[in-house]
Amino acid sequence: MRASNYFIPTLKEAPSEAEVPSHIYLVRAGFIRQLAAGLYEYLPLGLRVLRKIENIIRKHMDNAGALEVLLPILTPAELWQETGRWEVYGKELFRVEDRKGRLFALGPTHEETITDLVRKNIRSYKDLPKNFYQIQTKFRDEARPRYGLIRGREFLMKDAYSFDVSEEMAVQSYQVMRDTYKRIFDELGLDYLMVEADTGAIGGKYSHEFVVKAANGEAHIVYCENCGYAANVETAKYEFELDRPPPEEEKPLEKVYTPNVSSVEEVAQFLGVPPTKIVKTLVYILSDGRKVAVLIRGDRELNETKLINYFNVLDCRLATSEELKEMGVVEGFVGPIGLDLPVYADISVEGLHNFVVGANEKDYHYINVNIPRDFKPVEFVDFSTARGGDPCPNCKQPLKETTGLEVGHIFLLGTKYSEAMKAYFVDKDGKEKPIVMGCYGIGVSRLMAAAVEQNHDDSGIIWPESIAPFKLHILALNTKDPQITDVAEQIYKQAQEIGVEVLYDDRDISPGAKFKDADLIGIPYRIVVGKKVKEGKVELQERKTGKKEEIQIPDIPALLEKLKG
Ligand code: ATP
Ligand code: MG
Repeated sequence: MRASNYFIPTLKEAPSEAEVPSHIYLVRAGFIRQLAAGLYEYLPLGLRVLRKIENIIRKHMDNAGALEVLLPILTPAELWQETGRWEVYGKELFRVEDRKGRLFALGPTHEETITDLVRKNIRSYKDLPKNFYQIQTKFRDEARPRYGLIRGREFLMKDAYSFDVSEEMAVQSYQVMRDTYKRIFDELGLDYLMVEADTGAIGGKYSHEFVVKAANGEAHIVYCENCGYAANVETAKYEFELDRPPPEEEKPLEKVYTPNVSSVEEVAQFLGVPPTKIVKTLVYILSDGRKVAVLIRGDRELNETKLINYFNVLDCRLATSEELKEMGVVEGFVGPIGLDLPVYADISVEGLHNFVVGANEKDYHYINVNIPRDFKPVEFVDFSTARGGDPCPNCKQPLKETTGLEVGHIFLLGTKYSEAMKAYFVDKDGKEKPIVMGCYGIGVSRLMAAAVEQNHDDSGIIWPESIAPFKLHILALNTKDPQITDVAEQIYKQAQEIGVEVLYDDRDISPGAKFKDADLIGIPYRIVVGKKVKEGKVELQERKTGKKEEIQIPDIPALLEKLKG
């Protein structure tokens, strides 16, 4: 491709809304442009990268026996109503109406559609197992579209759905996908973790997220360098037993005057005790209307996902000041003793002695509180957000903490959708049974951003070879010098003949501008054709290492063969 005929609108400045390197560089280097919040245009360079990512995914999915389909983007509301998700999905679902007033959603995911296809076309165990996938644009009206391709409102996803005769077989399909995902992310050249993720209602070990380590990621992960364990902080079990404080003799309960101090830090400072001796009492309103008090040690953070899962509700939130007042609860001084709410305690509170809680009275706390002497929680539950330094649940070594971008998610669904939508098959024994499902997503466009988050420097992008828009960038430094252009043209022709994907910068601009653009665009190898042609030489440069090497012109075909790989 000749740069003079191509379209690479590079920019000196990043757009003001771009905060993270992938957003900044993908726009500046001319890969993408924003149309509106969360909507992006892929320019020729960007589309090349996107297609490469797609093709790697497609190859491995095909190898795993998955069957590619393409489902409509418009999905009828009735299907969503069958599973209850027309309501549950809330505002994230883009809803549209046709001329007859029939409602549709722009598909944010396709469990309903694919289950409908399967229930209409698969009747017997003989037709199973099946795994269908598609690579398609998805729509989600995200509350906060941001970070460029990382969180768009329209984005490219690979979604796959497996259908099996039993849970046992579904687990096998799941494992095949898990291994397939590893091959995909390995080939993409990314540094990632496979982490145990929240399984919500399903439970068990059958949800994994694939997370690309990145400073700007929204996923919070703990992992163990010793044994390889990795989990979302929302899922990781808190091994309290290994963190348990030494026993103490119980002291008499005392109510103390603590004027105007209510946060953990303030109380700790006022009473001269560490935060680990303070127990916070949080009042939550669950989405089914229940009101509960939850205790957690002062130094730990409560995890709402764990709370939601434990109480088996869709959502939860902290009670507002108004609501606390209505319940007769004194804000800032809430405590479990004498509280008229069911009290649950995080396991960090179990075995704690002589601790501090609010006294349910303005400006007062209790000190030297002990369980079960002073109160008794309904149950001790793991509500804590895991963090670096916690003991690994596997091998007890201290965990590390990192942030990352979720680029893939695999999930054993069980029969949730097949039962709701009556996707049954007739088994060998003649009985009708619900098909057991799994679903498997990859954020194709988010991967493009993730690759840049992980591979860039101060000058621009450094593409992993497997998804670089081109393998080779030829820079003809002075297009007015026929000796230079002759050699550059010749290399360009040879590269095309040999089959090396090549971008040839034949534009009549300064060498400085060419180098700047080349650094920004981030093609892995560069052949610079400049004054040295007079000595029969050009320079080979590697974008990643900055390594430079002089090459004799007659050696170029051999070099190109090598680059072709
Ligand atoms: P997140 O927690 O980031 O919102 P999710 O759990 O909603 O992700 P899934 O429904 O599992 O995501 O979607 C499959 C994959 O699609 C995700 O792993 C992610 O890589 C990608 N993805 C999800 N939402 C977006 C988005 N708004 N923009 C780009 N990619 C997305
Ligand atoms: Mg989401």
